[in-house]
Amino acid sequence: MVDTPKPWCENTSCADLAKTDGRNIKVHSYGERRYSCTTCKHTFSFDKGTFFETVRTDRQILVEAVAMLVERNSLRASGRIKQCKLQTVLHWLDLAGPHAAALSNHFIRGLHLTQAQIDELWTFVKKNRSTFNPMIPAI
Ligand SMILES: [Zn+2]
Repeated sequence: MVDTPKPWCENTSCADLAKTDGRNIKVHSYGERRYSCTTCKHTFSFDKGTFFETVRTDRQILVEAVAMLVERNSLRASGRIKQCKLQTVLHWLDLAGPHAAALSNHFIRGLHLTQAQIDELWTFVKKNRSTFNPMIPAI
């Protein structure tokens, strides 16, 4: 499990700017999914810095559509099943990519692999070369 930091106030004029002990942060609204800072009264989203931050679509639809893409369903198929436009699914994929790359970078580090395991990994990568897109920059 990824250890997620507690929310913090990003208001540059707040005395508790970036304080991460969480004492100045309270839930402002569960319905609107917002926190508030008790020091400066600034409110901010629960989803700040996440995949969901700028998306207004129902989370269940969003997560299922991206899961379909992960399972190699086509963009058009995912859009048809979730009754969304192709451009919408492309937008979600575009948003999910950097977050997925960040998670991969977080988890795939410090692995103590044997030569056989590394060979197996490269065999898997080479087999999937057709799905590899060199235009997507590594983070
Ligand atoms: Zn504040």
